[in-house]
Amino acid sequence: MKFLWTTAFCLIGSAAAAQNDTQAILITNIHLFDGVSAARLENANVLIDGHIISRVSTDEIQADGATVIDGQGGTLMPGLVDNHVHLSMVTVSIPDLLFGEPTYPLVRAVRDAEEMLMRGVTTGRDMGGNIFGLKKAIDEDIVPGPRIYPSGRFLSQTSGHFDFRTKAETHRAFSNIEPTPDRLGWVYTVDGVPQVLAAARENLRLGASQIKIAAGGGYASPTDPLLSTQFTFEEMKAAADAATDFGTYVTMHAYTPTAINRAIDAGIKDVGHGQLLDRETLERMAAEGVHLSTQPFTVCNEPQLDAFSNAKLNVVCQGTANMYKMVSEMPDLNVTWGTDLFNVPDASDQVEQLERLLEWFEPVEILKQATGNATSLLAMSGDKNPYPEGPIGRIVEGAYADLLIVEGNPLADLSAVTDASNIMLIMKNGVVYKDVLN
Ligand SMILES: [Zn+2]
Repeated sequence: MKFLWTTAFCLIGSAAAAQNDTQAILITNIHLFDGVSAARLENANVLIDGHIISRVSTDEIQADGATVIDGQGGTLMPGLVDNHVHLSMVTVSIPDLLFGEPTYPLVRAVRDAEEMLMRGVTTGRDMGGNIFGLKKAIDEDIVPGPRIYPSGRFLSQTSGHFDFRTKAETHRAFSNIEPTPDRLGWVYTVDGVPQVLAAARENLRLGASQIKIAAGGGYASPTDPLLSTQFTFEEMKAAADAATDFGTYVTMHAYTPTAINRAIDAGIKDVGHGQLLDRETLERMAAEGVHLSTQPFTVCNEPQLDAFSNAKLNVVCQGTANMYKMVSEMPDLNVTWGTDLFNVPDASDQVEQLERLLEWFEPVEILKQATGNATSLLAMSGDKNPYPEGPIGRIVEGAYADLLIVEGNPLADLSAVTDASNIMLIMKNGVVYKDVLN
């Protein structure tokens, strides 16, 4: 069954791809959630020219020769943006990633990217990994998957959050042995300003749309205390300077106020977790336009992690509710949704995770975190934006034609989106990848 299904949708994708940029598509009979407005625009029509949305109107749109799709009264909304993915390692175990057959993770990544797109996620901001090849193949329509905003390799200090060497692997400075995570293309393990500059600039050379550093401890990593601060101010500033000079920004892995305040002082513009943040720092972020791209970490124990890591996860997990409660009272803070799925046996709950946010937010706020709030975050990639032609995460004239048509009203009932069987149409870049309307 899986094979037939995959073949069927690939045919849709490639057939539409052949028409891309030549054939207009007119979608009628829908209600529109544009990614930012609190209410739907009722009884609307949307015209797509090639890969761009060219017209949105409640009046009838004349489009001679266009292919017409009857939306059957469903809700048309932006494709979802997962602002924290690691597409090269979603379902890859850490042993397979670091000690296994080197080509195996990429094969899984191809499968994981396809499944992500078919859940309605049309863009993923990749927050670290060996990703440039997969991104290129997706952009060339070789394999189906979401748009990718790549960070390239993680930047980690020695003994930092991405230092996954075994203890038998002596540091490069004392052995001339390149660390395995570096050799396989996952990480730049760097210390000192010159090495940080070189790593950031190398990522930028290869096509990174933003730079990702670990500014503090993490739970999956084997040797760093959770509450540690990582990279000195000068090292953080070096990364920020390299990114800013190329017209983009740095995002970070960090949970604590100490790490996050140091990073903001150094010019870093996005917090990639923040579950242990305090109100003062959140207010500073809102005042200074620093984004919060965070995740509902509400599962406090993961069987694939050891006791050391699960103890750290528990602290992060306890912080999640506290953070979201404060965030829900700060309308000026730009908050985006992400999942940070990596090293998991099964990623099928990716979009269902939106429902965890119902404890703190109305559906419209949750949907904005997964669509319209991402627009300004992704646009911060500036000169390094791989998709600069129009906004992503919005349904407006001039935006990329990345959209879903779902059965029901997700502003009233999130399951219209989170239950994939309610997604009737998936379009990315004007290409239809799923269509059960006709
Ligand atoms: Zn991550």
